Amino acid sequence: MISADTRVFALLGDPVRHSLSPAIQNAAARAVGVDGVYVALKATHEELPGFIRGLSRAGGGGNITLPLKEKAPSVLDTPLEAVRRTGACNTFWLQDGKVVGDNTDVEGFRRAVGTFMQGGSARGQRVLLLGAGGAARAVLVSLLDDGADEVCVVNRSAERARSMARRIGGSRVRVLDVPRDWHDQDFDLVVNATSLGLGLHDPLPLDLERLDRAGAVMDLVYGPVGTPFLRHAEGLGIRATDGKEMLVQQAAASFERWWDTPAPVDAMRAALAGAR
Ligand code: NAP
Repeated sequence: MISADTRVFALLGDPVRHSLSPAIQNAAARAVGVDGVYVALKATHEELPGFIRGLSRAGGGGNITLPLKEKAPSVLDTPLEAVRRTGACNTFWLQDGKVVGDNTDVEGFRRAVGTFMQGGSARGQRVLLLGAGGAARAVLVSLLDDGADEVCVVNRSAERARSMARRIGGSRVRVLDVPRDWHDQDFDLVVNATSLGLGLHDPLPLDLERLDRAGAVMDLVYGPVGTPFLRHAEGLGIRATDGKEMLVQQAAASFERWWDTPAPVDAMRAALAGAR
């Protein structure tokens, strides 16, 4: 029951009305029996500092989504390492009187890779990463930490990819900016971290037939019946998954930051399936 002790958490962004996070987080709180409620609030850049500080000071916290993830670090007292490395924050809460922020997309992707890849991680893998936005930066940090052998990045704007590689990169990151650099190449894993697939009439982010081999495909986009890229991969006999597991796993990592207890991941997966 909601009472004066209930901790309030919110998803901040715009748009947020379509979000499945309230269903996932409220189911998690019920399953564990903690006293919290999670809502979605539309917020502008100007409103974000007030929301983050107000929710945190009141004993709660929240998540941040598009287009505010890159604005949020400037509001924090204590940005954790994943925020410093990606330049983006998707989770905040109050700790020892300070507003702390993390980017659980990094851990969410790592955990999703763990459940999907046959070896349980990206260690030793050659990866083609499509995209260079906020999600791609989280994926890149996660892949490098996980021990990927090489991450090749392709993005519509090659300059944005180069800037991501400079910020996060190192010797294991290569930006490919002409198709001959990725055509006929062999990758253990292809990750779509572009937003292509969200729109009904979007083209595929990549024609997988152009590659010599794609061992597996992860699409960060998700939809009620998979995604066009997922179906494209599966049609070619490639193991593939969409972004639902990452969505659940980043939510689970946020829940653990707020409540300091293991997240009920199965209940969260069930809530996602039920909400769709
Ligand atoms: P973002 O920062 O806006 O980046 C968008 C990316 O998509 C950029 O690389 C952009 O390329 C590329 N792109 C957009 N339109 C394109 C087009 N018409 N042709 C080619 N490339 C295009 O967004 P984000 O936060 O990284 O999110 C990317 C996707 O990941 C979204 O679909 C989001 O829903 C998904 N996501 C999923 C999860 C999950 O838990 N499953 C978590 C986070 C994000 P340019 O740089 O050239 O503009």
